[in-house]
Amino acid sequence: MCVCASRGVRAAVTLDDVVPVIGVLALQGDVREHLSALASCGARAVPVRRPSELAAVDAVVLPGGESTTMSRLLGTFDLLDPLRERIAAGMPTYGSCAGMILLAREVLDGRPDQQQLGGLDVVVRRNAFGRQVDSFETDLDVDGIPDGPVRAVFIRAPWVEKAGDDVQVLATVPDRTVGGAGTGEAAGRPVAVRQGAVLATAFHPELTGDLRIHAMFVSMLA
Ligand code: GLN
Repeated sequence: MCVCASRGVRAAVTLDDVVPVIGVLALQGDVREHLSALASCGARAVPVRRPSELAAVDAVVLPGGESTTMSRLLGTFDLLDPLRERIAAGMPTYGSCAGMILLAREVLDGRPDQQQLGGLDVVVRRNAFGRQVDSFETDLDVDGIPDGPVRAVFIRAPWVEKAGDDVQVLATVPDRTVGGAGTGEAAGRPVAVRQGAVLATAFHPELTGDLRIHAMFVSMLA
Protein backbone atom coordinates (compact mmCIF):
# COMPACT_ATOMS: atom_id res chain seq x y z
CA MET A 1 0.00 0.00 0.00
CA CYS A 2 1.31 3.43 -0.85
CA VAL A 3 0.70 6.15 1.67
CA CYS A 4 1.69 9.61 0.56
CA ALA A 5 1.53 12.34 3.14
CA SER A 6 1.24 15.99 2.30
CA ARG A 7 1.15 18.55 5.09
CA GLY A 8 0.17 15.79 7.47
CA VAL A 9 -2.83 14.76 5.40
CA ARG A 10 -2.91 11.25 4.01
CA ALA A 11 -3.41 11.79 0.33
CA ALA A 12 -3.21 8.33 -1.21
CA VAL A 13 -6.42 6.47 -1.80
CA THR A 14 -6.19 2.74 -2.14
CA LEU A 15 -8.53 0.56 -4.18
CA ASP A 16 -10.02 -0.65 -0.89
CA ASP A 17 -11.15 2.89 -0.10
CA VAL A 18 -13.11 3.45 -3.29
CA VAL A 19 -14.43 0.20 -4.67
CA PRO A 20 -16.91 -1.56 -2.41
CA VAL A 21 -16.28 -5.22 -1.75
CA ILE A 22 -19.15 -7.65 -2.02
CA GLY A 23 -18.92 -10.88 -0.07
CA VAL A 24 -20.63 -14.04 -1.26
CA LEU A 25 -21.59 -16.34 1.59
CA ALA A 26 -19.55 -19.42 0.75
CA LEU A 27 -20.80 -22.15 3.04
CA GLN A 28 -22.87 -24.01 0.45
CA GLY A 29 -24.67 -23.44 -2.84
CA ASP A 30 -23.83 -21.70 -6.10
CA VAL A 31 -21.09 -19.45 -4.77
CA ARG A 32 -18.83 -19.51 -7.83
CA GLU A 33 -21.62 -18.38 -10.16
CA HIS A 34 -22.39 -15.32 -8.00
CA LEU A 35 -18.70 -14.41 -7.67
CA SER A 36 -18.35 -14.55 -11.41
CA ALA A 37 -21.58 -12.61 -12.14
CA LEU A 38 -20.52 -9.86 -9.71
CA ALA A 39 -17.04 -9.71 -11.21
CA SER A 40 -18.57 -9.43 -14.69
CA CYS A 41 -20.51 -6.40 -13.42
CA GLY A 42 -17.20 -4.80 -12.46
CA ALA A 43 -17.64 -5.39 -8.73
CA ARG A 44 -15.02 -6.77 -6.38
CA ALA A 45 -16.39 -10.00 -4.99
CA VAL A 46 -14.88 -12.33 -2.42
CA PRO A 47 -16.07 -15.48 -0.66
CA VAL A 48 -17.10 -15.12 3.00
CA ARG A 49 -16.79 -18.02 5.43
CA ARG A 50 -15.70 -16.40 8.69
CA PRO A 51 -16.79 -13.48 10.84
CA SER A 52 -13.49 -11.67 10.09
CA GLU A 53 -14.18 -11.96 6.35
CA LEU A 54 -17.71 -10.66 6.85
CA ALA A 55 -16.35 -7.68 8.76
CA ALA A 56 -14.20 -6.77 5.76
CA VAL A 57 -17.00 -6.55 3.16
CA ASP A 58 -19.46 -3.77 2.35
CA ALA A 59 -22.30 -5.94 1.08
CA VAL A 60 -23.26 -9.60 0.96
CA VAL A 61 -24.87 -12.04 -1.47
CA LEU A 62 -26.61 -15.10 -0.03
CA PRO A 63 -26.61 -17.72 -2.80
CA GLY A 64 -29.10 -20.38 -3.70
CA GLY A 65 -28.63 -23.82 -2.25
CA GLU A 66 -30.49 -25.33 0.66
CA SER A 67 -31.68 -22.92 3.31
CA THR A 68 -31.90 -25.52 6.09
CA THR A 69 -28.29 -26.62 5.49
CA MET A 70 -27.11 -23.04 5.18
CA SER A 71 -28.84 -22.03 8.37
CA ARG A 72 -27.13 -24.91 10.21
CA LEU A 73 -23.73 -24.01 8.74
CA LEU A 74 -24.22 -20.33 9.64
CA GLY A 75 -24.42 -21.49 13.26
CA THR A 76 -21.39 -23.78 12.95
CA PHE A 77 -19.29 -21.01 11.38
CA ASP A 78 -20.38 -18.39 13.97
CA LEU A 79 -21.90 -16.23 11.28
CA LEU A 80 -25.54 -16.11 12.35
CA ASP A 81 -25.39 -13.19 14.77
CA PRO A 82 -22.74 -11.17 12.91
CA LEU A 83 -24.79 -11.44 9.71
CA ARG A 84 -28.03 -10.55 11.50
CA GLU A 85 -26.35 -7.50 13.00
CA ARG A 86 -24.86 -6.30 9.72
CA ILE A 87 -28.16 -6.74 7.87
CA ALA A 88 -30.08 -4.96 10.62
CA ALA A 89 -27.52 -2.13 10.45
CA GLY A 90 -28.31 -1.60 6.75
CA MET A 91 -25.64 -3.58 4.89
CA PRO A 92 -26.78 -4.07 1.27
CA THR A 93 -27.74 -7.73 0.96
CA TYR A 94 -29.01 -9.80 -1.94
CA GLY A 95 -30.49 -13.25 -1.44
CA SER A 96 -31.36 -15.59 -4.28
CA CYS A 97 -33.70 -18.54 -3.67
CA ALA A 98 -32.37 -20.15 -0.45
CA GLY A 99 -30.91 -16.68 0.26
CA MET A 100 -34.39 -15.18 0.00
CA ILE A 101 -35.62 -17.80 2.48
CA LEU A 102 -32.86 -16.90 4.95
CA LEU A 103 -33.77 -13.22 4.78
CA ALA A 104 -37.49 -13.73 5.36
CA ARG A 105 -39.07 -12.88 8.69
CA GLU A 106 -40.94 -16.19 8.60
CA VAL A 107 -40.80 -19.44 6.59
CA LEU A 108 -43.72 -21.72 5.85
CA ASP A 109 -42.89 -25.39 5.21
CA GLY A 110 -39.45 -24.87 6.71
CA ARG A 111 -37.79 -27.04 9.32
CA PRO A 112 -38.67 -26.18 12.90
CA ASP A 113 -35.01 -25.52 13.75
CA GLN A 114 -34.37 -23.41 10.64
CA GLN A 115 -32.75 -20.07 11.55
CA GLN A 116 -33.63 -16.74 9.96
CA LEU A 117 -31.35 -13.79 9.32
CA GLY A 118 -34.24 -11.34 8.97
CA GLY A 119 -34.02 -8.14 6.97
CA LEU A 120 -37.11 -8.75 4.86
CA ASP A 121 -40.57 -8.29 6.28
CA VAL A 122 -41.99 -11.18 4.29
CA VAL A 123 -43.40 -14.62 4.88
CA VAL A 124 -42.08 -17.08 2.28
CA ARG A 125 -43.22 -20.57 1.44
CA ARG A 126 -40.35 -22.98 0.88
CA ASN A 127 -40.50 -25.30 -2.17
CA ALA A 128 -43.70 -23.45 -2.99
CA PHE A 129 -44.15 -24.52 -6.60
CA GLY A 130 -44.64 -28.17 -5.76
CA ARG A 131 -43.35 -31.34 -7.32
CA GLN A 132 -44.35 -31.17 -10.99
CA VAL A 133 -42.81 -27.78 -11.42
CA ASP A 134 -39.92 -28.08 -8.97
CA SER A 135 -37.81 -26.42 -11.63
CA PHE A 136 -38.93 -24.23 -14.49
CA GLU A 137 -37.98 -21.12 -16.42
CA THR A 138 -40.04 -18.15 -17.42
CA ASP A 139 -39.69 -14.57 -18.62
CA LEU A 140 -40.29 -12.04 -15.88
CA ASP A 141 -40.76 -8.32 -16.04
CA VAL A 142 -38.82 -6.92 -13.10
CA ASP A 143 -39.41 -3.36 -11.88
CA GLY A 144 -36.26 -1.32 -12.20
CA ILE A 145 -34.72 -3.63 -14.82
CA PRO A 146 -34.67 -1.98 -18.24
CA ASP A 147 -34.54 -3.57 -21.69
CA GLY A 148 -37.08 -6.34 -21.48
CA PRO A 149 -37.93 -9.30 -19.30
CA VAL A 150 -35.45 -11.34 -17.32
CA ARG A 151 -35.17 -15.08 -18.03
CA ALA A 152 -35.81 -16.46 -14.57
CA VAL A 153 -34.69 -19.96 -13.52
CA PHE A 154 -36.64 -21.38 -10.57
CA ILE A 155 -35.21 -24.43 -8.79
CA ARG A 156 -37.35 -25.73 -5.90
CA ALA A 157 -38.04 -22.09 -5.36
CA PRO A 158 -39.96 -20.25 -2.68
CA TRP A 159 -42.55 -17.57 -3.28
CA VAL A 160 -43.55 -14.68 -1.09
CA GLU A 161 -46.82 -15.39 0.61
CA LYS A 162 -47.14 -12.17 2.58
CA ALA A 163 -45.22 -8.90 2.34
CA GLY A 164 -45.14 -5.99 4.78
CA ASP A 165 -45.95 -2.42 3.81
CA ASP A 166 -42.30 -1.47 3.45
CA VAL A 167 -41.60 -4.24 0.98
CA GLN A 168 -41.55 -3.33 -2.69
CA VAL A 169 -42.67 -6.15 -4.98
CA LEU A 170 -40.48 -6.05 -8.09
CA ALA A 171 -41.82 -9.11 -9.92
CA THR A 172 -44.62 -11.64 -9.68
CA VAL A 173 -45.22 -15.03 -11.32
CA PRO A 174 -46.85 -14.36 -14.68
CA ASP A 175 -50.25 -15.83 -15.33
CA ARG A 176 -49.10 -18.18 -18.07
CA THR A 177 -46.01 -20.08 -16.95
CA VAL A 178 -45.26 -23.38 -18.68
CA GLY A 179 -45.89 -26.48 -16.60
CA GLY A 180 -48.72 -24.98 -14.64
CA ALA A 181 -46.55 -22.82 -12.39
CA GLY A 182 -48.33 -19.66 -13.49
CA THR A 183 -51.76 -21.03 -12.84
CA GLY A 184 -53.79 -21.55 -9.74
CA GLU A 185 -52.02 -20.66 -6.56
CA ALA A 186 -48.75 -19.59 -8.15
CA ALA A 187 -50.03 -16.84 -10.45
CA GLY A 188 -49.33 -13.40 -9.10
CA ARG A 189 -47.06 -14.51 -6.26
CA PRO A 190 -44.16 -12.12 -5.62
CA VAL A 191 -40.79 -13.61 -6.60
CA ALA A 192 -38.57 -10.52 -6.48
CA VAL A 193 -38.74 -8.01 -3.65
CA ARG A 194 -36.79 -5.16 -2.15
CA GLN A 195 -36.90 -3.57 1.26
CA GLY A 196 -34.40 -0.75 1.70
CA ALA A 197 -30.93 -2.22 1.20
CA VAL A 198 -32.19 -5.81 0.99
CA LEU A 199 -32.97 -7.38 -2.39
CA ALA A 200 -34.23 -10.92 -2.89
CA THR A 201 -35.27 -13.10 -5.81
CA ALA A 202 -36.83 -16.55 -5.72
CA PHE A 203 -34.99 -17.30 -8.97
CA HIS A 204 -31.32 -17.65 -9.96
CA PRO A 205 -29.99 -14.86 -12.20
CA GLU A 206 -26.46 -16.19 -11.64
CA LEU A 207 -27.27 -19.17 -13.88
CA THR A 208 -28.33 -17.38 -17.05
CA GLY A 209 -25.52 -14.99 -17.96
CA ASP A 210 -27.99 -12.08 -17.73
CA LEU A 211 -26.21 -9.69 -15.38
CA ARG A 212 -29.01 -7.18 -14.88
CA ILE A 213 -30.15 -8.32 -11.42
CA HIS A 214 -26.56 -8.35 -10.14
CA ALA A 215 -25.99 -4.95 -11.75
CA MET A 216 -29.09 -3.66 -9.96
CA PHE A 217 -27.67 -4.90 -6.66
CA VAL A 218 -24.26 -3.36 -7.35
CA SER A 219 -25.99 -0.05 -8.11
CA MET A 220 -27.67 -0.24 -4.67
CA LEU A 221 -24.20 0.14 -3.14
CA ALA A 222 -23.60 3.48 -4.78
N1 GLN B 1 -35.66 -25.32 -1.69
C1 GLN B 1 -34.43 -24.79 -1.25
C2 GLN B 1 -34.47 -24.40 0.22
O1 GLN B 1 -35.33 -24.68 0.91
C3 GLN B 1 -34.02 -23.58 -2.07
C4 GLN B 1 -33.63 -24.01 -3.45
C5 GLN B 1 -32.62 -23.13 -4.12
O2 GLN B 1 -31.95 -22.30 -3.52
N2 GLN B 1 -32.47 -23.36 -5.38
O3 GLN B 1 -33.56 -23.80 0.68
